[in-house]
Amino acid sequence: MSADNTKSEETYDGGCHCGYIKFSATLSPPLSEQKVINCSCSICRRAGYLLVYPPYEKVKWHNDSRSRCATYQFNEKIKDQLFCPKCGISIGIDFRESNIPVSRNHHYGLSVRTFNNIDLSTLTYRQFDGIGDVAPHGQDLSGIQYEIDEAERLKGSSN
Ligand SMILES: [Zn+2]
Repeated sequence: MSADNTKSEETYDGGCHCGYIKFSATLSPPLSEQKVINCSCSICRRAGYLLVYPPYEKVKWHNDSRSRCATYQFNEKIKDQLFCPKCGISIGIDFRESNIPVSRNHHYGLSVRTFNNIDLSTLTYRQFDGIGDVAPHGQDLSGIQYEIDEAERLKGSSN
């Protein structure tokens, strides 16, 4: 690792389980120096996300993999949860416009669980209290979106 310690950034290949989704993500600093986010919110908990946040320009989607991703939206529906439509693996989050006020550029949240040849036990994690810190505070949003969408759909079709 002696040479790696001086690197300011490093590129990681990753993707889903079946190979339909593939990407390369460049992280600065390298993963060994990142605090990977382990968030308690309803989507992170169920998807098993362990997140890092590369900007759009640092992620190369191979074979048009970004548009191959299936997406799920909930709550305010201002970001896309990304997963493989074939094998179901959770890839991460496309924040789209939703975090521009904070970060001033477009970011993904990629789950390091999808990175190739990573030993998760060697990484440093930061616990984030998403369920308490992100609005609506303290509320678990899982288990309700399907019914919300169905109600919306039925309202739309009766007009
Ligand atoms: Zn897949």
